[in-house]
Amino acid sequence: MTAMVTPHLFIPGPTNVPDAVRMAMNLPMEDMRSPEFPKFTLPIFEDLKKAFKMKDGRVFIFPSSGTGAWESAIENTLAVGDKVLMSRFGQFSLLWVDMAERLGLNVVLCDEEWGTGVPLEKYADILAKDTAHEIKAVFATHNETATGVSSDIAGVRKALDAAKHPAMLFVDSVSGVGSLDMRMGEWGVDCCVSGSQKGFMLPTGLGILAVSQKALDANKSLNGRMNRCFFSWEDMIKTNDQGFFPYTPATQLIRGLRTSLDLLFAEGIDNVFARHTRLASGVRAAVDAWGLKLCAKEPKWHSDTVSAILVPEGIDSANVVKTAYYRYNTSLGVGLNKVAGKVFRIGHLGALDEYMIGGVLFSVEMALKDCGVPVKLGSGTGAAAEYFVNNPVKPADKK
Ligand code: PLP
Repeated sequence: MTAMVTPHLFIPGPTNVPDAVRMAMNLPMEDMRSPEFPKFTLPIFEDLKKAFKMKDGRVFIFPSSGTGAWESAIENTLAVGDKVLMSRFGQFSLLWVDMAERLGLNVVLCDEEWGTGVPLEKYADILAKDTAHEIKAVFATHNETATGVSSDIAGVRKALDAAKHPAMLFVDSVSGVGSLDMRMGEWGVDCCVSGSQKGFMLPTGLGILAVSQKALDANKSLNGRMNRCFFSWEDMIKTNDQGFFPYTPATQLIRGLRTSLDLLFAEGIDNVFARHTRLASGVRAAVDAWGLKLCAKEPKWHSDTVSAILVPEGIDSANVVKTAYYRYNTSLGVGLNKVAGKVFRIGHLGALDEYMIGGVLFSVEMALKDCGVPVKLGSGTGAAAEYFVNNPVKPADKK
């Protein structure tokens, strides 16, 4: 390993920042109250809506991480004691439940096996039985980054519609938006939470929250409000409408966001999703070839942005991560909480191509071998290459 080479980053966020985005942030500090500033910010608010495929509503940009956007969604639409439906099946869905409880919500909880996702049938059943419409919001983690599980948000919408239930739909798509299809308008999502450091390919520091008109209306008609200040939508709206912010915005990051949106639109947002599916399929081909299993229990849960890979009994996955880091200059994601020591994660989202996937698979198979996992060197990289060659990018996906 040589210190001359930049470490290879394959954690599921922060992701690799494209050079164009990095250069766009390399600017002198600027005046965030200048009369020119709104010309820069107002189009960004509009363009962000395209990334979320929204019909109505607006997008807030907080100088926070995704956790702040989680908090903002709750505090601006719900009151202490409100009943909400949530599910827990990984570290991030667990943390969202924890936040909801700490903020005083009455959580109806579906505790699911880690490696599965949002339980659609249970949700449908609970919603159908809630004829008094006591449940004010239904929460769904679009992409559980800890276990590499994606959930069917359109299915949650169907469950709500089948029960003719008026609850709002809140989605955590921190490791989804910009890399996985998110159709807020079509799926009737009311609050969609994201952050800058994943599909938007930026450093951490922006909590991005897209909200529907229904959520904005709920905010206006709230009784028994939850206290809020920094994350208040009212303060944001007052200033955002003029192209400004209620407090000092992270101007460099927003400059970077302009460029990352330009890159996503230049490739075509649907082509970006197709690229993620293709690259993830290559990773999954490698996992098969190594004779290993994903933490995601069924193909319907497979995430196209992160793969959590189970190591065989008797092997500590933290050792695989450490070995990849020290011997091969490659950062992988560790297992969190219940799956600590059992899985390691490959983040495959953001600015990535086949070459980079080949690189991380190369490091992983060497680290596995070093740690005593009986993999055949070249098997995973070979299987991924095979997949990419046999599944060329469709001409329609090419620019
Ligand atoms: N939700 C998911 C699915 C995440 O992956 C993360 C972070 O990795 C979060 C929420 C929390 O976001 P942040 O760390 O930006 O606060």
